Amino acid sequence: MKNMIEEFRNHFDDVVESVERYDIFVRGREFQEQSLALLRPLLNECRENKERAIKNSQEDAANAFLAFEYMAASLMEEFRFYLALKDDKVDQAWDHLINAESAAANAMKSHQVAAHLTNYIERLDALESLLFPKPAFFSTGWVVHRSECSICGVEYGECDHIKGRPYMGQLCARVVKEGTAKEVSVVSDPADKHCRAMHFSDDDKWRNAFTHRIVPPESVDHPPKSRTLEGRIS
Ligand SMILES: [Zn+2]
Repeated sequence: MKNMIEEFRNHFDDVVESVERYDIFVRGREFQEQSLALLRPLLNECRENKERAIKNSQEDAANAFLAFEYMAASLMEEFRFYLALKDDKVDQAWDHLINAESAAANAMKSHQVAAHLTNYIERLDALESLLFPKPAFFSTGWVVHRSECSICGVEYGECDHIKGRPYMGQLCARVVKEGTAKEVSVVSDPADKHCRAMHFSDDDKWRNAFTHRIVPPESVDHPPKSRTLEGRIS
């Protein structure tokens, strides 16, 4: 089984090495688009190998392929981040960068094959803090009435699975089936960096928090009111 993982790692590293030189903002967009096109089949191979390992009940291999899948997804999101920035789509660029960060963090949680990503994650963090102003992040306080374990489906806390740990090719999450939002607060270190103030009011106008461009009032989101939800806490 070790050989299967090692063999795939060599192939994975070869593909990553061939696109790494374009993994910098100033490279031509055509090379970054080509890199995405090369990574897409690699992501599929990771998924196929993971499915095969799950079918054969090979938990270590399933978790290793899950980590490879997250690593490929992270790199793809980084390329999409550069392309969105070049298209002047700053909000989308932010989302791609945050997705790249979370995928890399999930890869590290999944298996030792991704144990070397600390520097990569630091690099993504540096891009975030150098290229964007620090957003006002929101955190929502929930009263959870019912939640399930994503691995076995029983009431969360009633089984031995722990959120954020890998089980047969899946990271465990606490799936909230029923809850009520109690409050929305502004925080500096949120659980979800997608949850941020996208606009601010400037006299009678609304502006984009990143670009400062005026946005039409109908496109402005307001904080969520108390409501029931279905969501995941991972
Ligand atoms: Zn469980």
